[in-house]
Amino acid sequence: MRLPTPSDSYPLQGARLPCLVGGQFVPGAASFDNVSPVDGRVLCSVAEADAALVDRAVQAARAALRGPWGRTSTAERCALLRKVADGIERRFGAFVAAEIADTGKTLGQASTLDIPRGAANFRAYADLALARASECYEMATADGRGALNYSLHKPVGVVAVIVPWNLPFLLLTWKVAPALACGNVVVVKPSEETPSSAALLAEVMQEVGVPPGVFNLVHGFGPGSAGEALVSHPDVGAIAFTGESATGAAIMKSAADSVKALSFELGGKNASLVFADADFEAALAGTLRSVFSNCGQVCLCSERVYVERPLFERFVAALTTRARALKIGGPYDGADLGPLISRAHRDKVLSYYRLARAEEGEILCGGGVPQFGDERDRGAFIEPTIVRGLREDARCVREEIFGPVCHVAPFDSEDEAVQLANDTRYGLAAAVWTSNLQRAHRVARAMEVGIVWVNDWFLRDLRTPFGGVKLSGIGREGGMHSLAFFSEPMNICVKL
Ligand code: NAD
Repeated sequence: MRLPTPSDSYPLQGARLPCLVGGQFVPGAASFDNVSPVDGRVLCSVAEADAALVDRAVQAARAALRGPWGRTSTAERCALLRKVADGIERRFGAFVAAEIADTGKTLGQASTLDIPRGAANFRAYADLALARASECYEMATADGRGALNYSLHKPVGVVAVIVPWNLPFLLLTWKVAPALACGNVVVVKPSEETPSSAALLAEVMQEVGVPPGVFNLVHGFGPGSAGEALVSHPDVGAIAFTGESATGAAIMKSAADSVKALSFELGGKNASLVFADADFEAALAGTLRSVFSNCGQVCLCSERVYVERPLFERFVAALTTRARALKIGGPYDGADLGPLISRAHRDKVLSYYRLARAEEGEILCGGGVPQFGDERDRGAFIEPTIVRGLREDARCVREEIFGPVCHVAPFDSEDEAVQLANDTRYGLAAAVWTSNLQRAHRVARAMEVGIVWVNDWFLRDLRTPFGGVKLSGIGREGGMHSLAFFSEPMNICVKL
């Protein structure tokens, strides 16, 4: 599969990026600019869907469900999903270039994680949906003839898929694939910051013969735009949302009147616990990755690193040295770290860097904006930053920052480490670094989160439950959990 080069142009240049409604590409009444976080240039104009266009998309989806799509077998749908995966791979270079253009993420990451995982999501859910069994219960009755109960999995109906900008294609396909595998119809709204890979997926859906109305794409913002129109639409049956916890709360309110099913993957303030008995090099490299991957813009990133006191100074010194050595640059520069998603998000992260100083933290490295002396100075680049010395109730320790930054603090006992890690309103993920097998299991189990890694980070088997507790979400996705959310079980009781 050919990788794009800097001389490859943005694959969607030209006319306004359209929405896809009922199998037709439509321009939308208004538009907004898609801006590169690398150099601030406008990549393209994007059609913004208003409430009327969102309604058309929902009605097209309903019509598709009443048509032949509603009668397809699981095997037929799964065969189509495999064609979608093949279609993504046929246009691999364009998908990588589009994702890079929107986000500024490194070529290495986009070509080994974001886009391959997008294709893998379609194949994984095709496999899982085909392997799904139904329940069956034999039942005794007073007349001795008995009864048989068996369950069917029916589609929920119209599913709204709303996703953020940090892993745009990976997260979008993570929901679209199981939703379609289960026979639903979808209206997808990508982030306003990252419309391009979703636009390419809409083209692939058309190319491989996904029937009109089954996959609809609307671009736009949240409040007062396509997002709000979609989540408050009375004919949407379920919402699969990934984004900020505060947005999840707003969506819950919008969805309340029509009592929709909700699957929420929300924010995190994840802890990494490094015990003195850990493999030093593995813990160091893993923590560096867990703090700075994707410029810190992964919901699973560690923003709180707690290190057992005997190791603390040595570990923090080494982590700081490694963080200082990280190369910041554009997607094709062979850099370790790209820009943040936008200048607006950089302002937010920089406000936390200032706050860390105001809260009397010590900035061990970073804390500002790099200067390149070229067009990248118009981008949204920021320095990787490590802070120590903050109180546990400091805002920088309690609030999700979503940038390349962590706070480091020592702990003295296993109990204290567990207490510190759990002392947060979030509950998404944790990483535990130790070579003590008993401790690994004990501490992992004590974490109040949905996902724990022991001696690793972001190692994902797509069959496993994924999601968070507390402010980090509602429900689980992944494997059979996704199939359960995107299906309505129906029991049929047959008197024999
Ligand atoms: P966001 O909540 O600002 O936006 C996410 C999506 O919701 C966007 O498409 C946006 O347009 C839409 N939206 C915003 N307000 C809306 C409203 N009122 N109604 C309907 N739609 C609305 O999040 P973001 O800044 O794009 O992404 C970063 C956040 O996502 C972080 O908090 C991060 O932790 C979280 N995240 C969580 C996971 C997870 O799996 N738990 C994964 C990735 C990102």
